[in-house]
Amino acid sequence: MNFQPSDRAEQWRSRLLDFLQTRVWPAEADYRAEVHADPRRQPPTMERLKAEAREAGLWNMFLPGDHGAGLTNLEYAPLAELMGRHLWSAEVFNCAAPDTGNMEVLHMYGDAAQQDRWLKPLMAGEIRSAFLMTEPEVASSDATNIQTRIERDGDHYVINGRKWWSTNMAHPNVAMTIVMGKTDPDAATHQQQSQIIVPVDAPGFRIERMLSVFGYDEAPIGHAEVVLDNVRVPAANLIAGEGRGFEIAQGRLGPGRIHHCMRTIGAAERALELMVDRLLSRTAFRKTIAEHSVWEQRVAEARTNIEMCRLLTLKAAWMMDEVGAKGAKSEIAQIKVAAPKMALKVIDDAIQAFGGAGVSADTPLAELYAGIRTLRIADGPDEVHNRTIARLEYAKARPRDS
Ligand SMILES: Cc1cc2nc3c(=O)[nH]c(=O)nc-3n(C[C@H](O)[C@H](O)[C@H](O)COP(=O)(O)OP(=O)(O)OC[C@H]3O[C@@H](n4cnc5c(N)ncnc54)[C@H](O)[C@@H]3O)c2cc1C
Repeated sequence: MNFQPSDRAEQWRSRLLDFLQTRVWPAEADYRAEVHADPRRQPPTMERLKAEAREAGLWNMFLPGDHGAGLTNLEYAPLAELMGRHLWSAEVFNCAAPDTGNMEVLHMYGDAAQQDRWLKPLMAGEIRSAFLMTEPEVASSDATNIQTRIERDGDHYVINGRKWWSTNMAHPNVAMTIVMGKTDPDAATHQQQSQIIVPVDAPGFRIERMLSVFGYDEAPIGHAEVVLDNVRVPAANLIAGEGRGFEIAQGRLGPGRIHHCMRTIGAAERALELMVDRLLSRTAFRKTIAEHSVWEQRVAEARTNIEMCRLLTLKAAWMMDEVGAKGAKSEIAQIKVAAPKMALKVIDDAIQAFGGAGVSADTPLAELYAGIRTLRIADGPDEVHNRTIARLEYAKARPRDS
């Protein structure tokens, strides 16, 4: 394992950092003011930054191979970390979830017509998308519970179901969704589900309500509860064939999870920087807060834990490059659990350092905390990833016994 960035990776990192420092971070106040003024409109600042990023070639960096920037997961990791410092900034570079996962799915499993109709405008950043798997009525961390029906009717499929936590559904540019549901309830458990492309303007597709995260509406992205009521789409919208829903879900979630972890390290790094600046600049009981020794413990713990998680993230990324997501299953699960927990502790300490300001909207910390907290649930709760890790450990033990 060698985590020394290649010259190429270093060049990408320095170009991205320069763009973030000179164009994106200074535009944050404008972006937020525009979202606040009209949460249902794509902020003009975002469209301007997207055009500039594309022009600068800082575009689709998440996608390996010829279609994107051609970076490995290990090379992409430091870039995602930088984008994670300001959670809204990934969209500037067309590297935001869930579009990234949907693009990967269409890239790996879509046919030529699906790629032409949907992958092209997604890659160009002209439209956005959502992924509809989770359902309110069933424990969706066990995806075999998914109840939505996708039934063949001549040269169409008819879809009925209820989804929620459909991220991106408030976005003014959202045009398509990928829906997971059952095409054959009698097939073997992992062959019952399929994935199908459903445009958001298909008759019978409607948003029932928007959800909030700790009270935040997360505009302009938003998370929706969606009803699919006899939605009819051409049979050609089915991705890769009936019964391949689980296989596609696995293919999508590996990179997606690790991208979240990379961005989470960036969020923790930013929280630590804010905490340190505050501790050095505020005085209580006749000395800076930094001089009260309890803060040395907290700062040291934050630095150590960020570093440990960064190394585990890099290891998981490196393994994905070397042996694929399947071979890196345990490492991806380990960091999926470890990174948000670590970041939450760092952000929590940073909030403490800011006193009342820490829980207000005057610092980014409260919103960062809410956003990162969801990552202990989204893309599968901690317990399910720990189950994966433990089962792999038990599997290793079996040959030792025999
Ligand atoms: C902000 C946010 C964005 C999201 N975006 C999307 C999206 O775009 N598309 C989408 O389809 N979904 C999305 N989700 C949904 C997310 O993936 C699910 O919430 C998650 O998979 C858990 O499913 P559930 O909510 O049905 O919880 P349940 O399955 O009901 O589980 C509830 C709890 O049970 C416990 N549990 C479950 N299994 C085990 C186990 N084996 N051992 C011990 N305890 C266990 C866990 O503590 C878990 O949190 C999002 C969620 C959030 C919060």
